[in-house]
Amino acid sequence: MFRRIDLAGKPEVPARLTEVEAVERRTAIGHGAATIHTVEHVLAAVAAHVIDDLTIELTGPEPPILDGSVLPYFDALAQAGPAAVGGEPSVLTVTAPFTVTDKEASYVVAPAKGLRLTVSIEWPHPLIGRQAGTYDVTPESFAAELAAARTFGFTHEVAELQARGLIKGASEANAIVLDERGVVNGGKLRWPDEFVRHKAADIVGDLALTGARIQAHVVATRPSHGGNIALARALARAGRRTGMPGREAHRNAGDGYRENHGLSAPPLPISARGPDP
Ligand SMILES: [Zn+2]
Repeated sequence: MFRRIDLAGKPEVPARLTEVEAVERRTAIGHGAATIHTVEHVLAAVAAHVIDDLTIELTGPEPPILDGSVLPYFDALAQAGPAAVGGEPSVLTVTAPFTVTDKEASYVVAPAKGLRLTVSIEWPHPLIGRQAGTYDVTPESFAAELAAARTFGFTHEVAELQARGLIKGASEANAIVLDERGVVNGGKLRWPDEFVRHKAADIVGDLALTGARIQAHVVATRPSHGGNIALARALARAGRRTGMPGREAHRNAGDGYRENHGLSAPPLPISARGPDP
């Protein structure tokens, strides 16, 4: 759940597929003035820590981009320390394989015991070309393999996107910026295949909008935010969902749940504000 504490009435926007408003270059949720842009990195950190229920308060329309990776959020949540809230975690289990396509992006989904991502991307650029990787997403592997991978963009796109009001804060400090030959200003990559690792982290963040832990092997080819959201919707439709986290069960059931479970107030796990920008 996101809460815009800078707006009158402090509107809440559930981090759910029903709230998705835009998917071009980032994932935005909510509507009108309460829209929240680029939720995928902070949500990737939440999902990677296997946090089922959380309130994120924002003082503006977008979580800070920070260094362009998930790592600052991942580390901040690790320091905050997740706490038990009761209830049963929501789990989406895939029982039969299926495919999803959205423009250039395509996905094959198969049953698995946990979340496994096999991701491949292709860009006509000397530093990218074709990159592929397989990642079993656990808190430990996410921290080691995906969290620090930064978002990337190309110098020729930056001006055009900024003219349309997107990526307002883009710079070498918060993204890998590429020209035709390499990283601008002598910037260094954290891995040679940092690009595909970031795309894998984005998938983890977008799938968090299902509101469930995912048990599936997803083979993603040329993933995009639009494709990831189509994938999340297909998973929510086709997957078998079990469980309901404590506070969500409480919200849905009202006072009856509170009485039955002896709660005096909705348990609040942690409220993450993220590091100062
Ligand atoms: Zn991203």
